Amino acid sequence: MFETAIAGSLPKPAWLAETQKLWPQWKAQGEELRQAKADATLLWIKAQEDAGLDIVGDGEQSRQHFVHGFLEQVEGIDFEHKVKMGIRDNRYDAMVPQVVAPLRLRGRVHAFEAQLARAHTKRKLKFTLPGPMTIVDTVADRFYGGDAQGKVRMAMAFAELLNQEALALQADGVDIIQFDEPAFNVYMKDAADWGVQALERAAQGLTCTTAVHICYGYGIQANNDWKQKLGDEWRQYELVFPALARSSIGQVSLECYHSHVPPDLMKLLEGKDVMVGVIDVASDVVETPEQVADTIGKALQFVPGNRLFPCTNCGLAPMRREVALAKLQALGAGAALARERYR
Ligand SMILES: [Zn+2]
Repeated sequence: MFETAIAGSLPKPAWLAETQKLWPQWKAQGEELRQAKADATLLWIKAQEDAGLDIVGDGEQSRQHFVHGFLEQVEGIDFEHKVKMGIRDNRYDAMVPQVVAPLRLRGRVHAFEAQLARAHTKRKLKFTLPGPMTIVDTVADRFYGGDAQGKVRMAMAFAELLNQEALALQADGVDIIQFDEPAFNVYMKDAADWGVQALERAAQGLTCTTAVHICYGYGIQANNDWKQKLGDEWRQYELVFPALARSSIGQVSLECYHSHVPPDLMKLLEGKDVMVGVIDVASDVVETPEQVADTIGKALQFVPGNRLFPCTNCGLAPMRREVALAKLQALGAGAALARERYR
């Protein structure tokens, strides 16, 4: 009961990449960089195990950014000429690559880090991929027509590529494949109309556990400012959860601790595993085990214990390394306390 996991990303050590940045520059190249990524992956697997987490991940140490890491292995994308684009409904500007030709995978995307992680932990292994709708919101379209219909076609094309990689990750021994869809909380109607369908295409044929992570973003200033404007009750999940409850996806995440999400929205996910965010990623204040257990107790009113997976609200990538480590420990200790309290 209360199997713990992180959303996905962890800070990169200062010797691997620039710290506290969403698109950090690597500190090495070639074989040296490959080795540094491997070292950082092993370090974070050990830290997650030591913190008592039940499900571990690679901490996304081998990718510069959670979306562009995948795109770097896709043919048909021009990375040489990035353009500035407002993403997440113009919440912030990013330099994004352009889709200029039919999309095809050059080969495996994450084989190296997935196989490395699998070889070095006996715990359940979760691996994250960006969801199709979030990818579409993080590239510029110069090929599919640039309109709303083109967006859907492009999402389905990316979903096919994601599916190829997901099936290969499953063959590598990954237990849980999670698609990250922060865009679901921005374009709620599109998410319900076609985003969930694209997600199911990406997960087609998988027999391992499938998951989707939906959040209010990393703890960066632009996101914190946006959240200030969302009012006292954040009801975005309400529009997409019913579509997810009807879908083939097994696990769904939501932000809980320090969010304004009404906890009773969890009831909309009946029949699904719910990854409940019990760790705030927008604050350096480290949760106490009691606070984590309290949040789990609150969620228990709406989710049965065997379906409740305590998790971080979002990735920890932009945080200071020591803060992220302390938050992993709080997550592990808080879930242990909750198991005693609520058994
Ligand atoms: Zn997130």
